[in-house]
Amino acid sequence: MSEHIVHNVIIIGSGPAGLTAALYTGRANLKPLVFEGMQPGGQLTITTEVENYPGFEHGIMGPELMDVMRKQAQRFGADCQFKFVDKVDFSSSPFKLHVEGKEYLAKSVIIATGASAKLLGLPSESEYMGFGVSACATCDGFFFKDQRIIVIGGGDTAMEEANYLTKFGKEVMIVHRREEFRASKIMLERAMKNPKIKLVTDTVLEEVIGVTEGSKKKVTHAKLKNVKTGEVTDQEVEGIFLGIGHKPNTDIFKGQIELEDTGYIKTSKVNTNTNIPGVFACGDAQDHVYRQAITAAGSGCMAAIDAERYLESIEEHS
Ligand code: NDP
Repeated sequence: MSEHIVHNVIIIGSGPAGLTAALYTGRANLKPLVFEGMQPGGQLTITTEVENYPGFEHGIMGPELMDVMRKQAQRFGADCQFKFVDKVDFSSSPFKLHVEGKEYLAKSVIIATGASAKLLGLPSESEYMGFGVSACATCDGFFFKDQRIIVIGGGDTAMEEANYLTKFGKEVMIVHRREEFRASKIMLERAMKNPKIKLVTDTVLEEVIGVTEGSKKKVTHAKLKNVKTGEVTDQEVEGIFLGIGHKPNTDIFKGQIELEDTGYIKTSKVNTNTNIPGVFACGDAQDHVYRQAITAAGSGCMAAIDAERYLESIEEHS
């Protein structure tokens, strides 16, 4: 089934980038249609307090920030739908987007699909995912009250998750594969000062070990290997959290627009243009350097202005 309407702009994604693009294209009277995707509000809906978004002196909870961003965009006419785009066709204009069995047409598209947490790829990791293994401390930390927790990773995500998890767990061990940490100094120091956190370096998770009790599985140990000495230990633990970074959500754009080898969308250095005129990209789907809510929002604003100018230019020539 296909719609006959050709939308001015369709925005794919609803994190800070997508919703800022919706706000700006809404205020430009372009009546944006927003497909919010699998995780409406994006990654900030699975964080707790956001302390570094300008304008909130005392911080704001991630889900609340996204909620007000959506309402602000809707106030200017953005049509936000909780739907998932499963296929795109950018080979000719109007562009085609397949959404849950229906085809939508658009003169311009803003991609703001963000990124998702990376996994290690161990079979036992997927076996125990949701049964002691998690990639989201704010979603699942509550289930590990007074229990032992391991966080894998050495970046800011790992530090942040570990700090947060000390609110619940009795002890939190950060397991990092190298000696040097990628995390910013302030986040690393915060973790080092926390009496509930222990940092273990040069160590990798080899296997998640658990038991099945009736229909329920639970984690009991983490098989850890010191990469320098080769020593393997079975660490008693109930919760294992992955904090090893993110992967851009760009699979549906493969073969449609140019992507980096890492999957991030290639955009112009001076604006949000992709290699297809009329298709713009913003936020974490195209940014592997900054990956902040405020930079995502900023690039969402840029994409909206770029789309507006593009639409004006095609109207002039039609
Ligand atoms: P990073 O890429 O910065 O760090 C990922 C960490 O996971 C690295 O230490 C990396 O190890 C480790 N890692 C990756 N793959 C594996 C693997 N297969 N096995 C074991 N370890 C692995 O990602 P983050 O998500 O931590 O941070 C991304 C960006 O977001 C950064 O710019 C960060 O500053 C920002 N951020 C900011 C926050 C804040 O300000 N509140 C909170 C969270 C993130 P290695 O170092 O060896 O590569």
